[in-house]
Order: sequence, then C-alpha cells, then structure tokens
Amino acid sequence: MVGTDFGLRDPIWLSRYGNATHLADEYRKGRVFLAGDAAHQHFPAGGVGMNVGIQDAANLAWKLAATLNGWAPDTLLDTYHTERHPVGADLTATSRSQVALMTAFTPEGLDLRGLLARLLTVLPDLNHHLAAKVSSLAVTYPPTAPGAHPLTGTRAPDLALGDTSLFALLRADGYLLLDLTGSGRLTGSPRPGLHVHTATPYQPPADFADARAVLLRPDGHIAWASTEQDDAALTEGLTVALASTHRK
Ligand SMILES: Cc1cc2nc3c(=O)[nH]c(=O)nc-3n(C[C@H](O)[C@H](O)[C@H](O)COP(=O)(O)OP(=O)(O)OC[C@H]3O[C@@H](n4cnc5c(N)ncnc54)[C@H](O)[C@@H]3O)c2cc1C
Repeated sequence: MVGTDFGLRDPIWLSRYGNATHLADEYRKGRVFLAGDAAHQHFPAGGVGMNVGIQDAANLAWKLAATLNGWAPDTLLDTYHTERHPVGADLTATSRSQVALMTAFTPEGLDLRGLLARLLTVLPDLNHHLAAKVSSLAVTYPPTAPGAHPLTGTRAPDLALGDTSLFALLRADGYLLLDLTGSGRLTGSPRPGLHVHTATPYQPPADFADARAVLLRPDGHIAWASTEQDDAALTEGLTVALASTHRK
C-alpha cells in the first residue's frame, strides 16, 4: 500500500484476517444457539466484534437461566433471535460501510472520506450517534406493545437511589421492579424471577421524571415502564407486561 516494507524482518508471530462478512439467518434452532463470531463475522473495523458477541451472550444467558430455573416460558428464548439478529445485521452493515471508506483511494473516495471527516468536526449529533453505535450502548430492543413508554427497550442508566444505585440492585436471577409510586404499594403478586425495590430516584433523567414504575431485565434493559397515576391500573399494566416472560 505504501511502497515499502519498512525493513521489518523475522516476525515471531503473524496473523491474518480477511474481509468476509457473514450473518447467520437464525440465531436459534431448537436447542442450538449462535452467539459471537459464530453468528456474525466481519472485518474488524470499529473494534466492536467482541463487544457485540459479549452482548449476545449477556442477552442469552439470563434467558437460558430463567427458562432452566422454571420462571420463564420457553418462548422467551425466541426473543434472543428477535432482539440480537437486528444488532448483528446493523454491525455487519456498519463494518462494511467503514471498509468502503477505509479502502477508498480513488479521487472520489478520498473526497467522500474528507467530506465525512469534516462533517464529524462540526456536527456533534453525528459524533454522538456514531460513538453510541461503536460502543453498542445505543442498542435498544423495540417494544412489541403499542403505546409503550419511550423508555421501553432502552438500556437504563445507573440511577442514584438513596443509599444505593440501580446497577447495584440489578439481579441476574430475575427482573427488578422499581416501585416509584412513593406509596410502596406496587408490589405485584410475589413470584419467582421478580424482585421489588421501592425507591425515589435522586435527580432522575427527564425520561424517568414522570415514571411511577419501571421494570428492568437482568441485562439492564427496560422491559416496561409506566406513568399511570391510578395504582390499580398501574398494577394491571405490570401484570400484562409480565405475562409473556413470567409464569404465574
Ligand atoms: C485483528 C482483529 C482485531 C480485533 N479487534 C477488536 C476490538 O478491538 N474490539 C472488539 O470488540 N473486537 C475485536 N475483534 C473481534 C474479536 O476478536 C472477535 O469478535 C471475538 O474474538 C469473537 O469471540 P468468539 O468467542 O465469538 O469467537 P472466537 O474468539 O473465534 O472463539 C471461538 C473459539 O472456539 C474454538 N473452536 C472452534 N471450533 C471448535 C470446536 N469444534 N471445538 C472446540 N473449540 C472450537 C476456537 O479455537 C476459538 O478459541 C478483532 C478481530 C480481529 C481479527
């Protein structure tokens, strides 16, 4: 590429990788699940392959545990493909587009790269969008219920909750219900795979300001949230939200 080998000699270790891009059609077939590079392989542009693979594993692990421990139905395992396959598709498409830019040595390609580089210096929103994409922190799992609270599917931030914080409360063995009603009455019916914490967030972000209940999955993504003011209707909403993931 640069017309010289820089004089390097006698390597003690060499590795090679290619530009193959593959995405499995199905992440689950019966008792077989694909995660990591077995599910998505791509040029290592952006440096996120391992991160996405670990997120695959984190998404699948609690679902396997929940199913084996008996509090979730087998159908929960189907959501592994539903949630993670679009992330893999986005990953492979993003990597390919980076490869196109990195290898663009024609005058047109160099101009395109220069234009994008200049845009990155003047558009903070574009920078923020790309940073969130590369870090995988922007991954959301779109809600299936119509009219869902905007927090649904997003990854929760670490809220300050009195003498503890949200991340300290997250549990690997079940969902966490944050009762923000102030009354502590929203305990729902006690059941396996559900932990309840009554709290008042300290200076919550705007999205949380009016929430009266937030239900978090073991991986920190928000399964359900509600601003419902009536306690009975709030409890009913919670029951509906838990119906597809928790056995009664
Ligand atoms: C040059 C380069 C730079 C990278 N940089 C980054 C980065 O900065 N950040 C990042 O997030 N990602 C990066 N990646 C990607 C990252 O390395 C991979 O996404 C990650 O290692 C995939 O992990 P995995 O466990 O899914 O697969 P692998 O790491 O491939 O692990 C699979 C394992 O299974 C073993 N195996 C295969 N077949 C069998 C069998 N039949 N029986 C038993 N064992 C078997 C293999 O030997 C291997 O140990 C980079 C990749 C490359 C090539």
